[in-house]
Amino acid sequence: MAKAARVKKSKSARKLHSRNVVQRKNTSLPMSVFDNVMKQFDAAARKLKLDKSLLEFIKVPRRSTIVKLPVRMDDGSYKMFTGYRVQHSIARGPAKGGVRFHPDVSLDEVQALAAWMTWKCAVVNIPFGGGKGGIICDPQKMSEGELERLTRRYVADLIDIFGPDNDIPAPDVGTGPKVMSWFMDTYSMKDYHAVPSVVTGKPITLGGSLGRSEATGRGVMLSVREAAKYLKLDLTKATGSVQGFGNVGSVSAYLLQDLGVKFTHVSDVTGAIYNPDGIDIYALVKHVAETKSVLGFPGARKVRPNDVLYAKVDILIPAALENQITATNAHRVRAKIVAEGANGPTTPEADTILNKNGVLVIPDILCNAGGVTVSYFEWVQNRIGYFWSEEEVNRRLEEKMVAAFHDVLRTSKENRTSLRIGAFMLAITRVIEVVHLRGIYS
Ligand code: GLU
Repeated sequence: MAKAARVKKSKSARKLHSRNVVQRKNTSLPMSVFDNVMKQFDAAARKLKLDKSLLEFIKVPRRSTIVKLPVRMDDGSYKMFTGYRVQHSIARGPAKGGVRFHPDVSLDEVQALAAWMTWKCAVVNIPFGGGKGGIICDPQKMSEGELERLTRRYVADLIDIFGPDNDIPAPDVGTGPKVMSWFMDTYSMKDYHAVPSVVTGKPITLGGSLGRSEATGRGVMLSVREAAKYLKLDLTKATGSVQGFGNVGSVSAYLLQDLGVKFTHVSDVTGAIYNPDGIDIYALVKHVAETKSVLGFPGARKVRPNDVLYAKVDILIPAALENQITATNAHRVRAKIVAEGANGPTTPEADTILNKNGVLVIPDILCNAGGVTVSYFEWVQNRIGYFWSEEEVNRRLEEKMVAAFHDVLRTSKENRTSLRIGAFMLAITRVIEVVHLRGIYS
């Protein structure tokens, strides 16, 4: 009976979470992305001698909202969508984090992503808490009009939650500057004037920051550069592989190519390609813009999608979605550095295997923090009403990323732990410090 109930629960949970949930080794219970971030937190918290009850307070999301969004479709019918906004922490400042449009979005995933935002903002030491939003939808299959009506309905339903001092969204998987424009416009109706600082990742003409669109990839490049210095790896002789060729994967790859890295493997949702002599990333960006796929790129041959993860290269950049490197395949990773462009691409079990095998994992909350760092710069520029040059933005981003990398490295060395646990320890300490000063009404 107990077993039957467990199997039943496991089946429905699997249906609910679909992609976000991978099967636990040797058990029928699924593992959620949120479980993963909680495990990472616990591993770091165990090493910190901090008040257990306060740790419990900062660990869980403060507020999770679910909205049902009716939208008129182009064919005249009405469709109900489900949207989420989670504020994991508002201790260090307004909740900050993107909004994801994807068919596999779930509350479990949004809560995990919101928690990672809290730790990410603390790692790069910007005055924000963590939040995340999502809508279960397939933006590839919707018209621009449908997407606009869906976005506006989402913002209207959550208008009291958002605000430049409360909760500031940004782009994530499936959203970009256009969605942010509708976001800003809908929110601005509430105040009867333009409120650009309510959202980041906007088009430049609407108050977006120069350098924001490349910022996540630039942060990945800077983290890899610092890691390579630490490992004494010569980037002009290094090889790379990238999983995911969206904004993060493509920018990381071309900026690393500029430093001399030769990319032999690239994949996107449509498939994977390989060229032992190196794939010209700039030419591939053009090819993908024209054909919507990495496949068919001249000089490269098609390989299996997972070959990208198992490639014998120096640097592997998972820049797609969560749960890609798991207990089942981590032993096949042969890279020296895994630079997490995506959020949560490595499960905690896989982390243990990679660490044991001597792979240096640059954790997501450090590696991909360049995006939210420039979001912070965008918010600052909106509030002062003065805009910086791209050089100025990039210089400040470099300063933040390099400082964060070395703060994390130092914490990890002092505590003889992985960069991930070091990053969590640093972030938790920074959040706890604020909570101690403010008290718990934060
Ligand atoms: N979605 C991005 C992330 O996961 C950026 C968030 C932001 O700029 O607020 O870090």
